[in-house]
Amino acid sequence: MGKLNVAMLRYLTSEDFRVLTAIEMGMKNHELVPGALAASIANLKHGGVHKILKELCKHKLLSYERGKHYDGYRLTNQGYDYLALKTLSSRKVIASFGNQIGVGKESNIYVVEDCDGNPLVLKLHRLGRTCFRNLKEKRDYHAHRNKAGWLYLSRISATKEFAYMSALYERGFPIPKPVDINRHCVIMELVKGDPLSRISEVAHVEALYDELMNLIVRFANHGVIHGDFNEFNLMLDEEENPVVIDFPQMVSTSHANAQLFFDRDVTCVKDFFRRRFGYESSLHPTFDDILREDILDVEVSASGFTKKMDKELLAQLGLDESEEEESCSGDEEEDIEELREEVEVKMKVLDKKDGEGKRNKGVENIETIDNKDMKTES
Ligand code: ADP
Ligand code: MG
Repeated sequence: MGKLNVAMLRYLTSEDFRVLTAIEMGMKNHELVPGALAASIANLKHGGVHKILKELCKHKLLSYERGKHYDGYRLTNQGYDYLALKTLSSRKVIASFGNQIGVGKESNIYVVEDCDGNPLVLKLHRLGRTCFRNLKEKRDYHAHRNKAGWLYLSRISATKEFAYMSALYERGFPIPKPVDINRHCVIMELVKGDPLSRISEVAHVEALYDELMNLIVRFANHGVIHGDFNEFNLMLDEEENPVVIDFPQMVSTSHANAQLFFDRDVTCVKDFFRRRFGYESSLHPTFDDILREDILDVEVSASGFTKKMDKELLAQLGLDESEEEESCSGDEEEDIEELREEVEVKMKVLDKKDGEGKRNKGVENIETIDNKDMKTES
C-alpha cells in the first residue's frame, strides 16, 4: 500500500511538476510515455528529464513499465493525486490535509482544511481501478483506448459530480456545497453528521421517510434520478435534516431505464425504513408522479460535461442504455506542440501562486492513499 506524504508537495520543484504534467499529457494518447517524448512535451533537455523521471518513480508518482512495443512511464494514482492537490493548494482552495473518513466503492474521502482552517471534504474519484469484470462481459471498452482509461474515467466522474452538485445546490437541494474541482478531485462542504447507515434511531421516522420520498420526486421533477439513493449516500446533519451525497451515477429521467432506476431508489428507502426502524408506509411515489418542472440535465451538459462523457461513465458504472458497440473514433495523435501548450497552461497556474509562501502552512501527512489497485487494470 503506497503512502502519500502530502508534505512532499513542498519539496517537489516546479521542474518536477512540469515533468509529471508532461507524463499526464502524454498519457492522452500513449499507454506508456517514453522518456524522450516526456522531455519533448515538457520542453526540457533530455538528460535532466531522465534524472527527474527516476526521482518521480522513486517516490511512486510515476511507474516505469515495459510495454509490448516500447518501454515508458505512466502516472500512478498518487502522481495524479499530487497534480490535483498541488493545483488546488496553489489556488488556495485547500491548505492542509487531515484524515481519511471514507472509502467508497469508487472514491477515497478525506477531510481537508481551507486557508482559514475550516474543514472541507476532498473526494478523490477512482474509477476503472476495481472491477473491470462487469465491463469485460459487455465489451472490451478500453481495448482501443489507452491506459489513460482510469485517468479519464476518474476525471469525468469528478466533473459530472461537480456539475450536478452545482446545479442542484443552486436549486436549493440539501446537498453539500460544492467548492471546487480539479482533475479527479472534488472539494465540497463537510456534512456534520452521519450517514443513515450508522444511525439507529431518529426522532421523527415518518417525517424523514416523507422527506426522502419527496426528494426523489423533486429530483425527478428536475429531470434527474439519483440512482444510488441508499443509507450510505444519505446523511443526517446535526438537526436531523437529510443531506444527499454521491452523484456520479445520476441518470436522466429520459434514460431508457429511468423508471427502473426511479423505482429502485424508492425501494431502497422503503426497505431501509422497514429494516432499520420497523416502519412501513403504504405511500410511496411512482414514476407517474413526476412533473418535470425544470430539466437539469440539459444545463449540466453545458458545464463541460458532455453526453459522450456521460455515456462512457455510465457504461463503466454498468448503467448504460444501449448494448451496441460504440465505435471508438480513436483520438488521432495530437500534436506534441499542443500538449506542450497545455503543460504551459497548467504550469502557469502553479507558478503564479508559488513564492507567496503562505500555502501549505499547516500541511500534515495524509496517512495513506490507497495505491494498491494501480495494477489491476490489465
Ligand atoms: P462513493 O461514491 O465512493 O460511495 P461517497 O460520496 O458516497 O463516495 O462518499 C463515501 C463516504 O464518505 C460517505 O458514505 C460518507 O460517509 C463520507 N462522505 C462523503 N462526502 C461527505 C461529506 N461531504 N461530508 C461528510 N462525509 C462525507
Ligand atoms: Mg456512496
